[in-house]
Amino acid sequence: MKVFVTARLPGDVMAKIEQEHSIEAHCEDRPIGRDELLAGMKGKEGLLCTITDRIDQEILDHAPGLRAIANNGVGFDHIDIEAATRRGIPVSNTPGVLTDSTADLTFALILAVARRVVEGDKLTRSGKFKFWAPFYFLGQDVSGKTLGIVGFGRIGRAVAKRAGGFDMKVLYYSRNPPQKDEDKRLGVCHTPLDALLKESDFVSLHVPLRPETRHLISKRELSLMKSSACLINTARGPIVDEKSLVEALRQGQIGAAGLDVYENEPELSPGLTELDNVVLMPHSGSATIETRTRMSVMAADNLLAALRGQRPPNCLNWDALGR
Ligand code: NAP
Repeated sequence: MKVFVTARLPGDVMAKIEQEHSIEAHCEDRPIGRDELLAGMKGKEGLLCTITDRIDQEILDHAPGLRAIANNGVGFDHIDIEAATRRGIPVSNTPGVLTDSTADLTFALILAVARRVVEGDKLTRSGKFKFWAPFYFLGQDVSGKTLGIVGFGRIGRAVAKRAGGFDMKVLYYSRNPPQKDEDKRLGVCHTPLDALLKESDFVSLHVPLRPETRHLISKRELSLMKSSACLINTARGPIVDEKSLVEALRQGQIGAAGLDVYENEPELSPGLTELDNVVLMPHSGSATIETRTRMSVMAADNLLAALRGQRPPNCLNWDALGR
């Protein structure tokens, strides 16, 4: 069959797919353009895409014979799953293999904002480090503080595990009821969102982007947070109303933010880069060589299974397909 791959994969992963199918691929280190994507879909039975590709009705119309969509990433807010399901196309993603890398980056951002690592690096490089003094360049402790985790899935739980090493008190918000045994084992406490926002020194977001989580953190929610609190977002940009966040940071309504994702990625809201109390990363939660390799292998395995007519190991819509 014919497969379209929208972003570079390791050579051995490409070779594995090529053992069974022919590949057309966009291998440049930039996201594929919309027109290139539309053109590439023509006559394809398989699609291995990534999180920057919007896979909607128009794309599906360009490949009426499409039999599999394998996403190289865990978030799937860029794919119209209902439209794919209506056409009988299994859609898969890469859960689990990027959990630890993303949790690690979350913690890197927590530490970086609390201890002003980026600001300190800039200051020292620019030759402005002239003396040590007891109350010079102070940050805040992470150890012993309260961490509020919004969305308690794979990555949220992995962040909670790391917080245990820092003796943090961990609150979490989930729309599911508390799991008493697990909560006890992990030392975490199920908390309503508003209470979590009021009590936490660090608030870290780990919900998927869905209509109900868009702007989950907006002006009202930011106003509930402590004036010293830090907001960390390694989930998806539109979960936070970025304009309100810039305003809250500017006015000292909250203390700092560590962001890996942005509302209109890769554009940043006006004023964000002018603030010293933010640490900004270029959507790198899963960006380690080990994790990106594991994701590629998983996406290829999902694709190959679907094209063989089997259930992909990480299928998002198998039950809905009624297979
Ligand atoms: P996951 O295991 O599915 O966890 C998401 C959690 O959010 C689930 O426990 C889910 O619970 C909960 N949730 C969903 N909607 C909610 C709502 N309205 N209110 C409260 N909780 C809600 O996913 P994951 O693997 O941890 O990944 C989480 C997200 O991180 C992904 O969707 C992706 O967007 C993002 N991500 C970013 C990067 C990066 O590079 N920065 C890397 C990996 C992942 P229920 O559905 O059971 O209620």
